[in-house]
Amino acid sequence: MTPPDLINVLTSVLTQASQVLHTPHGFVALVTPDREAVAFEMGTGDLDFLGHEGLGPCADVTEQVWRSGRPVVMDTDGPPEEASALAGARLRAVAVVPLRAGGRTAGVLGMAYDADADRTFGTAELEQLCGLCHLAAIALESARLYAQEKRSVALAERLQASAQAINQSLDLDVVLPAILDQLREVIDYDSSTIQLVDGPRMRVIAARGFAPDEIGRVRLLAEYPYNELLATCSEPIIEGPVPSTHLWRMEPHLSASRSNLGVPLVVRDRIIGALTVDSHKPNRYGADDARTAMAFGRHAAAAIEHARLLASERAARHHAERLRAATQALSSTIDLQEVFALILSELRKVVPYDSASVQQLTGQRLELIGGHGFRNLPNLIGLSFDVLAEDNPNREVVRTRAPVILTDAPASYPNFGTDPHREADIHSWLGVPLLFGDRLIGMLSVDSKQPGFYTAEHAGMALSFAAQAAIAIENARLFAAAQRELAERKEAQQRLNYLANFDPVTGLANRTLLGDRLGQALATARRENKLVGILFLDLDRFKMINDTLGHAAGDQLLKAVGQRLKHTVREGDTVARMGGDEFTLVLPQLDTVEDSERVAEKVSDAFARPFVIDGREVFVSTSIGVSLFPSDGADLEVLLSNADAAMYWAKGQGGNMHRFFTTDIVRAVERLDIESDMRHALDRSELLLHYQPLVNLCTGRVVGVESLMRWRHPRRGLVLPDDFVPLAEETGLIVPFGAWALGEACRQGMAWQLAGFAPLRVSVNVSARQLSANLVKTVKSALTDSGLKPSCLLLEITESILVQNPEAAISTLRELNALGVALAIDDFGVGYSSLSQLKRFPFDMLKIDQSFVRDIPDDSNDAAIVTAIIAMAHALGVSVVAEGVETTAQRALLKERGCDAIQGRLVCPPLTAAELAAAFFDHGPQ
Ligand code: C2E
Ligand code: CA
Ligand code: CA
Repeated sequence: MTPPDLINVLTSVLTQASQVLHTPHGFVALVTPDREAVAFEMGTGDLDFLGHEGLGPCADVTEQVWRSGRPVVMDTDGPPEEASALAGARLRAVAVVPLRAGGRTAGVLGMAYDADADRTFGTAELEQLCGLCHLAAIALESARLYAQEKRSVALAERLQASAQAINQSLDLDVVLPAILDQLREVIDYDSSTIQLVDGPRMRVIAARGFAPDEIGRVRLLAEYPYNELLATCSEPIIEGPVPSTHLWRMEPHLSASRSNLGVPLVVRDRIIGALTVDSHKPNRYGADDARTAMAFGRHAAAAIEHARLLASERAARHHAERLRAATQALSSTIDLQEVFALILSELRKVVPYDSASVQQLTGQRLELIGGHGFRNLPNLIGLSFDVLAEDNPNREVVRTRAPVILTDAPASYPNFGTDPHREADIHSWLGVPLLFGDRLIGMLSVDSKQPGFYTAEHAGMALSFAAQAAIAIENARLFAAAQRELAERKEAQQRLNYLANFDPVTGLANRTLLGDRLGQALATARRENKLVGILFLDLDRFKMINDTLGHAAGDQLLKAVGQRLKHTVREGDTVARMGGDEFTLVLPQLDTVEDSERVAEKVSDAFARPFVIDGREVFVSTSIGVSLFPSDGADLEVLLSNADAAMYWAKGQGGNMHRFFTTDIVRAVERLDIESDMRHALDRSELLLHYQPLVNLCTGRVVGVESLMRWRHPRRGLVLPDDFVPLAEETGLIVPFGAWALGEACRQGMAWQLAGFAPLRVSVNVSARQLSANLVKTVKSALTDSGLKPSCLLLEITESILVQNPEAAISTLRELNALGVALAIDDFGVGYSSLSQLKRFPFDMLKIDQSFVRDIPDDSNDAAIVTAIIAMAHALGVSVVAEGVETTAQRALLKERGCDAIQGRLVCPPLTAAELAAAFFDHGPQ
């Protein structure tokens, strides 16, 4: 729209010109904004061409004036064409004068006289007209400048409003029409559009000046090559007048369009679309309008880009949210199968599909481990195929480790279409790798029935999802592996526990577990005042069975015995194997001793039936020892060892019986132990002799030495005769022991002589059993072997021997006496021998028993007895030795009563041969 000020100027110029020239006919034409033409602006009288096409008869002359810048007058008297054109318009003459200001022609002013006026334009009229035009041009120029200024203010205001619209809303449907509305305020248009490049076409996204039902049809604009031009050229395009026969005559409303202005929408040097305006008037748009449109175009482009960024950010956020939800779901389980199921269900929320699969890669093979929407899925699960061998899209995924999209899978892979497991109408396919770090562990694939369904965006989403899925799978695998390892370790631990507590042959409790159970049983019994019974079993003659039937049969028997024992006793009782053929039963919570007796009998009875080993009946009996808490011991070790001792006792008595523990058994058992050890004492050289000197009471000189036997026991240490000689006598071992002592004493006596000491008589104690076991022969060989003279040997025989079997003793003693060996009566005074008996034996010496010496001189009775014995011995012509002399008082009394010699700790305790020589023979050989 022309600014109103300009209209005023032109109107006033026309009015003045009419008054000055006395004619009502005048017009003004102005150069169009595009400067391509001069267009009618306003007119009066017959020169008002409004509603006409162009300037009628004035067109040519106007063009001429505009181009030349000089006034032109037309007259009916002029050239014939001129005359006929003027005559046709009923005009007599026309004068057209340029409107010139600032050195350029802005338009023309034309005036005319009609035919009735009968006058023409002379020099005077022309001059007047030119003067008016000059003033008009100046006014016109200032109006134009003013308008321009106004327009740039308006433009600034509109641009600001448009920017505000962008700021106020991010919705393109609101912002873009608002921009077009603001544009209308500064650029005159009949319709306008904002269009986006959409592939090879343009898509209208906002429009003004179209009826609502026309908006859809605006798309046809895209057919117009002008848009393609815009899409490739960043310069504004101004067109007009547009011929009405052009392509868009298809659009009735556009057929009126005469001017067209389009500017590109540019974002970061890229044309994303166009802003266009149309006018029904021709030549409406010029460079100024283009600049203005460009400014609004920039706004539109910014708004579009802003919205796009926002949308993509929203989409990204939306995707991120879906991914996060999926990740969360995937991390809700560590069960591998559940993870696979979740992968398929969660994948659907991220990437839509009709069917989908999870496949795991092992070496070069892909295995289907989960699927959705496949036919006959159970048969498919676990199916694996060689990735390299098969021609399918999976191979591409494995090879490239990147997403693969097929818009029409059956077309790309013929096998795909014939796969009987897939629905027949599957078209789109998307496969993504399952990458854990840089390790390919499998792949995911989705199918859609819609051709070309999957986009790069789907691929991106699926890939992000697959990364999460891979983590979930690996986590579940690691967890499963850890579980397995834990289970294995537990099993190993259980195995160890079992071995630690159970006997592998019989499956019964072993010694360790028995200890535990017994400990518990004792604690409970103590609390509840009960008895605990311990049965210690040892199979009789098991060794024989083992040796004849073999070890395997032996093990079978042990197992069978264990089973039978278990069935014989109660549930709460413990049956344990202690090793070898020994078993132990713990009977907790017994009330009476009889209870344990009953169980022992029951167990004995259980062995009455044979055991079947290798199809052969085997009879085996057992010896059982029983100990009871608290009577036979307070703790585990004592109770077990007492039960063991009782068993040992039962076995010693022939086996196949049970025995309760008693204190007698301890002693008996100890004796049995000693006896068995004693049998080896000789061959293990555990026997030795100590020597104690006999000293003459008058001279104080050593008159002999008594040999006293000792046993160096490996565990008990040095054992004295009282602790083993009686047993040796009982068992008859005293015979070989005594023979050894004889030989050893003679050897030592001879050794001392050979060492240069004065000959000493060596005493050897002799037991009753030795007397009847060819003592003479033994003595002879001892003397012969050592080379000792018989007079240097003295045999000590207890008084009791003479009482028990005097006849046998007398003959032997006489024989010995005949050999020249000296004899002594030992322990005299306790054996009740009579003097008449004594007289029949050939004695050299009498030894008063220690019991009489011990209490002298205080005990007057003993002193009297000792005095009597000495007198009697001297009467028989036998020397007297007192034993066990420990005090000087004892010695004094003995000396006073005429005792010949003494023996005892007062003089010297029994010593080793070496010690004795050192103590008594140190003054050298005599
Ligand atoms: P015995 O023949 O009467 O031997 C004397 C015992 O008195 C020895 O005991 C000796 O160590 C101990 N004795 C020495 N000085 C004193 C003392 O001052 N006071 C007391 N109270 N005792 C003293 P030992 O060596 O324990 O021998 C015990 C018995 O064993 C011997 O009594 C003897 O009957 C027998 N015996 C020792 N050696 C043999 C042997 O080689 N063969 C046989 N058959 N019996 C032996
Ligand atoms: Ca003796
Ligand atoms: Ca004695």
